[in-house]
Amino acid sequence: MDNHDQKTRIMTIDLEPDLGSRECKSIHSVVPRLLDFCDHHKIKATFFTVTSLLEKYESEIKEIAKKHEIASHSHTHHALNPVNARWEIENSRRVLKEYSLTAFGFRAPMFITTKDHLQLVKDAGYSYDASFARYLPTRYQNLTLPGKPFVKEGIVEFPTPNFTYPILNSGLPYLKAFHPLSKAFPKPYLFYLHPWEFLERDHLKGNTFLTRNCGERAWSIFEKYIERCGGKWINCKRWMEEEKSKEKR
Ligand SMILES: [Zn+2]
Repeated sequence: MDNHDQKTRIMTIDLEPDLGSRECKSIHSVVPRLLDFCDHHKIKATFFTVTSLLEKYESEIKEIAKKHEIASHSHTHHALNPVNARWEIENSRRVLKEYSLTAFGFRAPMFITTKDHLQLVKDAGYSYDASFARYLPTRYQNLTLPGKPFVKEGIVEFPTPNFTYPILNSGLPYLKAFHPLSKAFPKPYLFYLHPWEFLERDHLKGNTFLTRNCGERAWSIFEKYIERCGGKWINCKRWMEEEKSKEKR
């Protein structure tokens, strides 16, 4: 017997400019391989997409949309603040619509939100949000945040769970940074990653925490993690649909 279970989990991928750059090299040098990887492992993901990328990469993003969900990761990837938040949230959804893509969900850049965040997300017409994390390095801790989806102000929130409570968010950056210790990390309901994590370190301008075990090392760590998790990986929209059909039963 292996240790796989049949649990359903959510895969989220933040499609944004490469770390420390305005460029998005990863969209050509990583995303095609990532799409093959998802096919191979039967993963249907939500791609939270920085919508300013549509101007240059429309065909690439539409290619992703054939099999995966496209949601919003703001328009410019600037941290939300009381001045820009409404515009980033509303405008990115409008831009997606202009490209015939309907976004149901939003994720704030760097998990930074304003006090009225869920209200803004609701006003813009989204049905879910995935912007809350219990722990943000050097910023704040939100220890009372649930580790599972919940509904607030009419919006379904998919909070980022932790590998180790109450810190270490369940994303590839932490899996890579704490490798090989991270082999013992638990398997949370939601996972996130960025395509730029698979670029070789020389292409990335960022702190050593984020650039540790990038490139081929990242592929190997990610693949082993997916194999260890087993179960079924779906996107946020599909998760909501499955929850609704459970309620009806
Ligand atoms: Zn981001």
